[in-house]
This record gives sequence, C-alpha cells and structure tokens, in this order.
Amino acid sequence: STACDVLIVGAGAAGIATAASLLKRRKCLSIVLVDPSERHAYQPGWTMVGGGIFKPEDTVRPMRDLIPDGVKWEKASVAAFEPDHDRVVLSDGRRISYRMLVAAPGIKLNWSAIEGLEETLGRNGVTSNYHYDTAPYTWSLVQNLKGGRALFTQPPMPIKCAGAPQKAMYLSGDHWFRQGRINDISIQFHNAGPVLFGVKDYVPALMEYVKKYRANLNFGSKLLAVDGTRKEARFANTAADGTVTEETVGFDMIHVCPPQVAPDFVRDSPLANQAGWIEVDEASLQHKRYPNVFSLGDAAGTSNAKTAAAARKQAPIIAENVLAVLDGKSMPAAYDGYGSCPLTVERGKIVLAEFGYGGKLLPTFPTWIIDGTKPSSLAWYLKAEALPPIYWHGMLKGREWLVSPDLKKTAA
Ligand code: FAD
Repeated sequence: STACDVLIVGAGAAGIATAASLLKRRKCLSIVLVDPSERHAYQPGWTMVGGGIFKPEDTVRPMRDLIPDGVKWEKASVAAFEPDHDRVVLSDGRRISYRMLVAAPGIKLNWSAIEGLEETLGRNGVTSNYHYDTAPYTWSLVQNLKGGRALFTQPPMPIKCAGAPQKAMYLSGDHWFRQGRINDISIQFHNAGPVLFGVKDYVPALMEYVKKYRANLNFGSKLLAVDGTRKEARFANTAADGTVTEETVGFDMIHVCPPQVAPDFVRDSPLANQAGWIEVDEASLQHKRYPNVFSLGDAAGTSNAKTAAAARKQAPIIAENVLAVLDGKSMPAAYDGYGSCPLTVERGKIVLAEFGYGGKLLPTFPTWIIDGTKPSSLAWYLKAEALPPIYWHGMLKGREWLVSPDLKKTAA
C-alpha cells in the first residue's frame, strides 16, 4: 500500500485539470492520479465527428502525454472507496491511502439498459455520438441517407452534455437541408423528458431549427428497445395524464443517446447520495460527510449541467479548497454551477447556452459579441477552432488565466 497527499480518481477532463491546478499552486504536493485508460478523449469533439467536421483521431491523445509532470499516474482501476480509512482499493487488491481525495471518475453510459442496442450499435443504421467508435458512423449514415425516417433519442436526465442528442439531429438536418433532401427525410426526436432544453431562454432559437428541419418532437417518449435487423425502435410514451403506451417505430437510421447513471463503484460506496452520485456541497464541492473528500465532473452530485465546461470552472475551485483544508484554513472558493452547452444548430452557427445553478444565465461574453440566445457564427468558431486548443493547452495544463480568468486566487 502506498500513500500520498492528494489522490485523484479518474484522469478525464476533471481529474487532469484538477491535478494541474493543484500543482500550479503547490509544486511539492505529492499527487497520485488513478485511471486505467491508455487514452484520454476530448468528448465534446464527438458531436463534430458525427457531423463530419472533426476527424476522430483529433479527439484523443495518449494518457501518458497528458499527465502533468510531477504527478504519479497509477494505471489501475479503483474498485472501492473506503473513506472511513482514508484509502481506496484498486481492482488488483492494492490499497492507496491519502490525506485528501478528489473523486472524478465520470458517468456510466448504460448501453445495456436499452434492449438489443449493444448487439446492433454501429451497424444496421444504429449509431451514437456518445462512443468514439460509432461517432464516425453517424456521419456516414447521414451522408448516405437519401430518404426515409431518422430517429434521434434522448434518455431521462441527468446525462452528460444534455444538448448532445439534439445537436446530432441539427447537424444531420443541416446536411440534408443543404443537399436538398430535407423533404424526403422525416426526422423524429424522442425525448424522455418534457422540454426541448432545460433553460427556457434558449428554446425559441432552437425551435426555429426544429421548424427548418421539419423535425417532429415527441416528449415523454423513452427508448426501450432497438431491433437493428428489423429496423424498429420501441418507445414507452407517457401521456399528460400519466398513462403509458408502447409504440414501435420503423427507422432508416437512429441516433441513440444512452441512459446514464453513476458508476457502480461510486453508487455502492459510502460517498454516494440516494441517487448514486458523490454527495458534495454545491458551492465548495466538499463532501457533505467526509471533509477530506471532494468531487467534480460528471460523477459529482451537483445540479449543474454535466459538461467539460463545468469541470473547467470546478477544477481551480477544488484546488483552492483542497489546499485550504490541508492547511486547516477555511475554504475560499465557491462554484456557481457554471456549465456550457454549445448547440450546433447548423454548420457554421451555434446557440451558446451558458448557465449556472437554477438556470441562471452566465454568459462569458457581452451580448454584442455573442448573444447566447441567438445562433452565432463567432460561437461556432469558438467551438470548432478555439475550444479544442483551450482544452488541451489551457484547461489540462492548469493555465487558469485562459480558462477561468474571474477566479480570485488565495492559496499560496
Ligand atoms: P470523463 O472525462 O469521462 O473522465 C472520467 C475518467 O475516469 C476516465 O478517464 C475514466 O477512464 C476514469 N475512470 C472511470 N472509472 C474509473 C475507475 N473505477 N477508476 C479509475 N478511473 C476511472 N462538454 C462540454 O463542455 N461541451 C460539449 O459540447 C460537450 N459535448 C459532449 C458531447 C458528447 C457526445 C459527449 C459524450 C460529452 C460531451 N460533453 C461536453 C461532456 C464532457 O465530455 C464531460 O462532461 C466531461 O468529459 C466530464 O469530465 P469527467 O472528468 O467528469 O469525466
């Protein structure tokens, strides 16, 4: 068994950014980062892969190239948290103890919750931008579809990047529109939830594109099963009065956003809340029952939009607060719930949703530069050109002046 000052579980967007932010503040800190994955993915790029804009290779890097110098990478999987003993158990049985724990293992894509999906995903017209291997298949289906029915599904909340299911629909619709095929393809959006987007300020701009692409919106419609060979999807539709009826819909292509849950080892741990997520305070990101435990990213039990943009703001806040707790001081930093969802409504335009807790709008730019409630070409430029380098060279390197200029630094 080994020991360290700070143990970070998960080297995704959140974990690496946190390690970098901690080291920027205190070089001598001993940090161990645990993650079994050889590769690290810039998942926000997968929507662009599915739209034929990014190449899949551009969205991944070898993990070893991203672990900050001075951080020890333990290439292993955490099997259990033992916060009462200040340690975690690895899947090979080894234990690592810590003074401070930062848990950032992300979200679990629950593909198997949809009957028949795993057998047919990536074939038979069944695709998903939520997987590195199948995002390119979305684009090939979109290019090849000349007519028929295209389905796009969204599971119950919470999911990471809640806008991604409809982004896939808009970018597909845009291609068919430009190719003059839009009248030959019937688009259906099946959303298990009750609204197009959770923050109402963005809905009017999105509805313009729903009309443009002649998409048919079905709310309270939850995907149950996919039969790839018969090209049929089965949905449970909940009516306003609560009655549930099942419906089978034939398709020529279907883009599935899988249901999402907390990772099993998180759900089964003492760190979890009732819903399975890590039970932290919304502002300090400190665990409500274990003061030397923090969490950020998709696994955290906070009500912000689960996005890399949220992790970008959370990482420096965690760094500040973790060091304060280590030093026995009071925690200086608070998170406002910022998250961002760049809705790719057409090639070249984005509705840039940026909001915090309670749906409060938190735009980065003044309205005259980017009005988030309107389609913007500058916002497209941001997503297509600026954000990937900001992610790799800013966020993952702890260069906070670039990613979080509003943060007041207090820790020495
Ligand atoms: P992840 O980046 O998923 O990393 C989790 C890490 O934990 C992984 O490296 C994994 O290997 C590791 N791990 C898992 N289990 C264990 C274990 N047992 N032990 C150790 N390590 C473990 N966000 C945006 O901001 N903007 C967007 O436009 C956007 N679009 C998206 C589109 C799609 C299609 C998808 C899929 C996501 C999108 N996101 C977007 C969301 C964004 O990618 C996530 O919110 C972000 O990656 C969360 O960071 P994380 O570190 O919590 O999780």
